[in-house]
Amino acid sequence: MNAIKPLKAQMAPKSDCTKIPLAVPQLGGNEWAYLKECLDTGWVSSVGPFVDRFERDFATYLGARHAVAVASGTAALHVALLAAGVQPDDEVPMPSFTFIAPANAVRYAGAWPVFVDAEAATWQMDVALLRDFLRDDCVRSDGALRNRKTGRRIGAILPVHVLGHPVDMEPLLALAQEFGLPVVEDAAESLGASYRGQPVGRAGQIAAFSFNGNKVMTTGGGGMIVTDDAALADRARYLSTTAKDDGTEGIHGSVGFNYRLTNLQAAMGCAQLEQLDGLLAAKRRIAARYAAGLAGLPGLSLMPEANWARNAFWLYSIRLDSNAASCTARELRQRLRERGIDTRSFWQPMHLSPAHAGAQTLGGDVAETLFDEVLSLPCSTDLGEAQQDAVIAAIRGELAP
Ligand SMILES: *Cc1c(COP(=O)(O)O)cnc(C)c1O
Repeated sequence: MNAIKPLKAQMAPKSDCTKIPLAVPQLGGNEWAYLKECLDTGWVSSVGPFVDRFERDFATYLGARHAVAVASGTAALHVALLAAGVQPDDEVPMPSFTFIAPANAVRYAGAWPVFVDAEAATWQMDVALLRDFLRDDCVRSDGALRNRKTGRRIGAILPVHVLGHPVDMEPLLALAQEFGLPVVEDAAESLGASYRGQPVGRAGQIAAFSFNGNKVMTTGGGGMIVTDDAALADRARYLSTTAKDDGTEGIHGSVGFNYRLTNLQAAMGCAQLEQLDGLLAAKRRIAARYAAGLAGLPGLSLMPEANWARNAFWLYSIRLDSNAASCTARELRQRLRERGIDTRSFWQPMHLSPAHAGAQTLGGDVAETLFDEVLSLPCSTDLGEAQQDAVIAAIRGELAP
């Protein structure tokens, strides 16, 4: 039998050459105290006082009626889509420029993503392209809106607020209303952002958040479903607790999922939520220092913040115009890496992803350009000014004329 090694020995060093990581969690609050409370009381699994408190506190933070804690942001999306009424073989328009999780969640629900290009100004889903699709390529028949080409029903719209910036929701909600479609928001990257003064994740029928290790706040892994609709919240809770009708008799009304968040994770969540305002303030401070330090470099544009938006600056990102800058984003990434500075390119557009090969796509050029040109910079909330100055100096060194 293998001896159990102490945890420290099993952990690999963060990285061999990276001195300034992209983003690491901040665990400076009540995490230890709350986790100890779980261990001392024996409440470690998927029910417990911290689960209830985390749901309550998170709903309050967003001004929402209901919050349902689940095992991941992906699980939150999966269940939110089902609760919103998405059926097998439906189609769900969503952005091409996004992390893959929402596209996967659409497939878990048995539905098909329709990828919509980004718009250049905000890097978010192009709502005008979505409008053209719904108006010109879809038709109402058998009481449903259907794609003319495939005959499939449109089940929902899935906007993803990427990298911390909101999607332009007013025209999107107008379309949802015009065509009677539910809106499921993926707010995983944009906790703390707001759209026209309203917190992101409050515009659609239901929204999903993530507490993965790289997100603004973390529970190690976890997610949350947020809605004002009691029936949707009940359905989401039911589906994420294996659709249990009667616990004592073991009766299940349908095929549900074991998606509940544990009390241990929720304890982390409560502690992180207490610090969220400080984490968000740090993200804004970092963004402002990058904006000041990187202004005026040829070919470099700063992370957008539309005049109707408050960016949460989850991952502070720049864009390098390959024609105007002295190197490409990928070359810059490599050169920064040699100096121990970790940066990332995001994401292979979904319409090019082998995982979703063959999916319908509306446009795609902008998403492809963003994939080539956007670079996320180190932005841990504890990033020191000296470290950030080193990143700025390194970028200036590469790009200044
Ligand atoms: C991180 C993320 C998710 C999924 O969250 P997990 O908790 O990692 O499952 C979903 N959507 C987007 C856009 C994300 O960035």
